[in-house]
Amino acid sequence: MTATSGVDTAMIRVIADEHEHVAHNYHPLPVVISRGEGAWVTDVEGKRYLDLLSAYSALNFGHGHPALLAAAQEQLTRLTLTSRAYHNDRLGPFAAALADLCGKDMVLPMNTGAEAVETGIKVARAWGYRVKGIAPDAATVVVATGNFHGRTTTIVGFSDDPQARDGFGPFAPGFVHVPFGDAAAIEAAIDANTAAVLIEPIQGEAGVILPPEGYLRAVREICTKNDVLFIADEIQSGLGRVGETFACDREGVVPDVYLLGKALGGGILPLSAVVADEAVLGVIRPGEHGSTFGGNPLACAVGLRVVEMLRTGEFQTRAKALGEHLEARLAALVGNGVTAVRVAGLWAGVDIDPAVGTGRDVAERLIARGVLVKDTHGQTIRIAPPLVVRATELDWAVEQLRVVLAG
Ligand SMILES: *Cc1c(COP(=O)(O)O)cnc(C)c1O
Repeated sequence: MTATSGVDTAMIRVIADEHEHVAHNYHPLPVVISRGEGAWVTDVEGKRYLDLLSAYSALNFGHGHPALLAAAQEQLTRLTLTSRAYHNDRLGPFAAALADLCGKDMVLPMNTGAEAVETGIKVARAWGYRVKGIAPDAATVVVATGNFHGRTTTIVGFSDDPQARDGFGPFAPGFVHVPFGDAAAIEAAIDANTAAVLIEPIQGEAGVILPPEGYLRAVREICTKNDVLFIADEIQSGLGRVGETFACDREGVVPDVYLLGKALGGGILPLSAVVADEAVLGVIRPGEHGSTFGGNPLACAVGLRVVEMLRTGEFQTRAKALGEHLEARLAALVGNGVTAVRVAGLWAGVDIDPAVGTGRDVAERLIARGVLVKDTHGQTIRIAPPLVVRATELDWAVEQLRVVLAG
């Protein structure tokens, strides 16, 4: 590559350093971001882009939301970490507020989403043995095909995506697959050893796949009837994204266990949680589970502010209205370089016509026009703007997409 200016050189240097010294576990799109504000980011050359990915919904409130920055800054100079060897004055208020938002009793704080999923599995197994009476080491968890729950060895072990799992076994046993969206298959898969059903109410990484209407209600009924925990992985779908606090709210359904992460940390730091009633989370005893950073006061201060912002309902309302706006504009692209569109709130999966190119091709061409999206599974691009985005900005972004699709 030849550099044409000093700033070009800086950008090439940064990408080269990353390529040489960072493991190639990602294949990033060719843009080097150095600043962010609201729904917009700026690259090292000063070029601006509308962020339609929001770090996979971790940035639901946008880059540098003033209320979240204030919460972080105030806490940063006071106290950041105690470990759970001691109490800190932020964990209790955060947990109380989050439990209340979820309509549950208790919170188990962790850091990343994958840790929340792992914790959910441990809780389900412990509940299965100690409450349901499943024989030792026999507990199973029913999961869906096409799932994405994170990247640890146990979790990729129950993925059915070869890229996620091939070459990383042996895997933990105890998981049973059923097709996503098929409630009858869940009922058929349940037996006396089933501790939980673990699903994403909407499958994000799979390409924003919406289950058929009534699926979540049916899962709820089946779990209740069979004394099985319904665990909803709302790590990407929750916290305002779909126009409700949780994707389960779309069907008026309350799972036994919520798994939360991503936006819970306000896009500032990793913060995840398992939220459930005392009858479930109460099974975990001191010393059986933990995390050095889990429940740290800095994360809790930010998380508390996130919960307070969600309590107003403002972001959910925005996501619903803007989502309808976006859906109408994306629907107009079907037949014009787009084969299908799936939308839930401000979250869309857009299937690109192979005649136009791959999802990656479209994402790369959009970069040149100042729009950031991310491809998934070859032909799909995912659109998940910060919920602070404006309708006019969405219109502009869809116009850029239309131009790119028109070639
Ligand atoms: C991102 C995601 C995870 C994993 O979260 P990490 O913070 O990346 O570990 C788990 N479940 C779902 C549904 C996700 O979208």
